[in-house]
Amino acid sequence: MGYYTVDDFSSALFLFYVLCITFLEGTANESVFCISDKIPNNKDNYILFVIKDVSCKSFKFIVFQYKKGKGKNMAVDNNRVIIFDTTLRDGEQALQQSLSTKQKLQIALCLEQLGVDVIEAGFPISSPGDLQSVREIALALKTSTACGLSRALDKDIDACYEAFKGIDHYRIHTFIATSDIHVHDKLKKNFDDIVEMAVHAVKRARNYTDDVEFSCEDAGRTPIDHLCKMVENAIKAGATTVNIPDTVGYTLPYEFGGIIKTLYNKVPNIDKAVISVHCHNDLGMATANSLTAVMEGARQIECTVNGLGERAGNTSLEEVVMAMKLRKEYMKGVYTNIVTENIARASQVVSGITNEPVPSHKAIVGSNAFAHSSGIHQDGVLKNKSTYEILTPQSVGFKENNMHMTARSGRHMIKAVLEKLGYREGSYDLDDIYARFLKLADRKGQVFDYDLEALLFLSHEQEEDSQFELDSLNVMSGGKNIIPTASVRLKIGKRTRTESGTGNGPVDAVFNCISRLTGIKLKLDNFVISAKGSGMNAQGQVDVDVIYNNRHYHGKGLSTDVIEASALSLISACNSIYRAQLIEEEKHEKENA
Ligand SMILES: [Zn+2]
Repeated sequence: MGYYTVDDFSSALFLFYVLCITFLEGTANESVFCISDKIPNNKDNYILFVIKDVSCKSFKFIVFQYKKGKGKNMAVDNNRVIIFDTTLRDGEQALQQSLSTKQKLQIALCLEQLGVDVIEAGFPISSPGDLQSVREIALALKTSTACGLSRALDKDIDACYEAFKGIDHYRIHTFIATSDIHVHDKLKKNFDDIVEMAVHAVKRARNYTDDVEFSCEDAGRTPIDHLCKMVENAIKAGATTVNIPDTVGYTLPYEFGGIIKTLYNKVPNIDKAVISVHCHNDLGMATANSLTAVMEGARQIECTVNGLGERAGNTSLEEVVMAMKLRKEYMKGVYTNIVTENIARASQVVSGITNEPVPSHKAIVGSNAFAHSSGIHQDGVLKNKSTYEILTPQSVGFKENNMHMTARSGRHMIKAVLEKLGYREGSYDLDDIYARFLKLADRKGQVFDYDLEALLFLSHEQEEDSQFELDSLNVMSGGKNIIPTASVRLKIGKRTRTESGTGNGPVDAVFNCISRLTGIKLKLDNFVISAKGSGMNAQGQVDVDVIYNNRHYHGKGLSTDVIEASALSLISACNSIYRAQLIEEEKHEKENA
């Protein structure tokens, strides 16, 4: 019995050719070219040749199998950096509340769409629930490889197998600490015992799957000779990926790069495995350390979406991916399989499900990452985006760059926004509009396009007064067997009207009343409550983003009572909509005149 496996299609063709020639020359040896109807497990994506020499004179030949997709051979191209996402393991373990299987599945499928190569789905030994969710994720994935974590213990590795039983391709990730402080104080062992345990664990995992990753926990603080010895032994035992974590986020880029470089210089069998890195951000070095490691030869980065993870977090996926893409020439031409246009969506899905807001200034995915506020910057970007923008918002899946109109914005910015709204230069007095814009910006903070448009049509007095004003508000919040009910009195122009109504909750009840009173049927797109100030004096701020006639409107409300703040925010959005309607009517009249 015999079979050949190769890594890629062209080697397969070459092998096919060699086999045919040998056959035709009659030098084929029956023991080599026997039919094998037993296809070895976990050989997806490999090409399998089976040749049968029926008698020594005639032959039937070639059964050929090439499965594409799951479990790609990721080490084929040396410029390819494998993205190993651990949002569901390292990221999840840092959350205050663990995620349900359904939530994890949602994130996993989103990561798959993002083009993540390996998804660390959990730690099966930690609980039966975790084992089950790892299994469900593995069953659902089509192109990404599912991975389970295990300590270097038999029961952990067996739990991984339990989670993956019957699944075509999966990875078992086993780890043990290698730094002196962990070996002596945590594990109470000596280094040689640790090596033995690691070798045993890797071999046990290899009995289950061909895709085994071994991690030297706290590698960043491990004496380099020990690290070399461990890596060499793990590879010898069958690890196909060896991970070098900076578990405590302690190293600096030059230092961490040096560790990877030394491994490549000193470990004789290092080319037999993919070297991976897993950095933490305690000193804000995770991205820099990971990239330096890649420049020294590492070809897998472990990371999380939004940099979620223990303490200061893990390396953030979006940062390393975009840095490698943007600075390709500096990064020696490495690339990843990440579909960068899906980054924004992944960031929002992870943030929403984990309840971990993305800081507005977060690189690549923060809401401010593509916003330009200073007048000088806005002027530059309007003339040529590259002046202050190194990558486009579209390249990571955001719609367009935000130009925040604030008191810092210059005339150019105002002109550009009006132009986008369809107003030609000369049809308005820029100096006058700009002066009024500055006043409005001082009062409101941020000005939106419809506010600007209103300045073109409204007189100074009209600007100040609002069509709708809250007169009084009464709410019964509900509770057991009580339906939330609200009663709202609004000043509408010169009249006052009252409405009462119910809703799913008190805010919903208030919104229903306002909608009936104003006659404006809008769609709520976003609703954010934040606290301003602290203690007894804290005020709740509610920001709403609503859609009316395909246009977005914003409203803000501030009050010590959040329900009142909600009402005020919606009323302010309704006032903007009302003004926009007046402007539309006026435009129509002008057109018809
Ligand atoms: Zn970690």
